[in-house]
Amino acid sequence: MTNLRVSTNAGDEVLLGSSDMEALRATLRGPLLLAGDAGYDAARTIFNAMTDHRPALIVRPAAAADVITAVRFARERDVILSIRGGGHNVSGRAVCDGGLMIDPSATMNSIRVNPGARTVRAGPGVLGAELDSETQAFGLATPVGTVSTTGIAGLTLGGGQSWLASKHGMAIDNLLSVDIVTADGTLRTASAGENEDLFWAVRGAGHNFGIVTSFEYRLHPVAPCWAVWCCTQSRAGSRLCASTASLPARSPTICRPGRAS
Ligand SMILES: Cc1cc2nc3c(=O)[nH]c(=O)nc-3n(C[C@H](O)[C@H](O)[C@H](O)COP(=O)(O)OP(=O)(O)OC[C@H]3O[C@@H](n4cnc5c(N)ncnc54)[C@H](O)[C@@H]3O)c2cc1C
Repeated sequence: MTNLRVSTNAGDEVLLGSSDMEALRATLRGPLLLAGDAGYDAARTIFNAMTDHRPALIVRPAAAADVITAVRFARERDVILSIRGGGHNVSGRAVCDGGLMIDPSATMNSIRVNPGARTVRAGPGVLGAELDSETQAFGLATPVGTVSTTGIAGLTLGGGQSWLASKHGMAIDNLLSVDIVTADGTLRTASAGENEDLFWAVRGAGHNFGIVTSFEYRLHPVAPCWAVWCCTQSRAGSRLCASTASLPARSPTICRPGRAS
């Protein structure tokens, strides 16, 4: 392993020696990826194909301890740090250029439903479709967006609009707690009864208050439902809209067909 130039928050670079990187790799349980490693390009590829950022280091955390290690490593060297979830944010800021990116998308995606308490706990790498799939096994759901490939992390921390919003509110209305690594490298739990200020902050402006390692949501009974979104002025589109008019009669969850101009 050769020396590596890494960008800092001050706008310059630090040189990481091979011993620095060996020490980091040895402390992590998950993989550390450098340019050229298998998986490096996949990890930095996001929804917005105009983003072509190249982190110097990518940490794929096995669990919260690896996130703490990565945050402390970046903090001690003033290295630029970014965190990605589902990679759907069009700004592309989930992938830093020249710094250290934490990528839990392939490693921290466990989901645990508690049907009795009607809650679900999910990792920061989980996508909306994955959460829906697990909660629907129990006839339950929580509002996590309209597009199945959006990450629950960025979506929830930005508020989270969804198909279920009119009935059950936004994602943040259903967020019960988070485990979060703050900038000092400490893992905290934030909820209505613990670190209340931090919990207030993560619900809507959460991208900047730390790195969430676990989300806990309230669940609601929701039968399987269909949503049809027609955005067309064509005749074929009009016929499709007309045909969806029969859906409500067959579906317990009513999504009224509409027509965008
Ligand atoms: C096709 C498409 C459909 C969409 N549909 C909806 C929708 O229906 N409803 C809606 O509300 N929004 C929607 N959005 C917007 C989307 O919610 C935001 O772009 C959101 O930031 C995406 O989250 P992500 O995890 O996929 O993104 P990422 O790009 O991975 O992350 C976005 C930002 O979130 C922060 N972040 C990610 N993970 C963490 C973490 N673990 N801890 C702390 N911060 C973190 C980071 O600052 C990162 O820069 C949509 C976007 C697209 C492209």
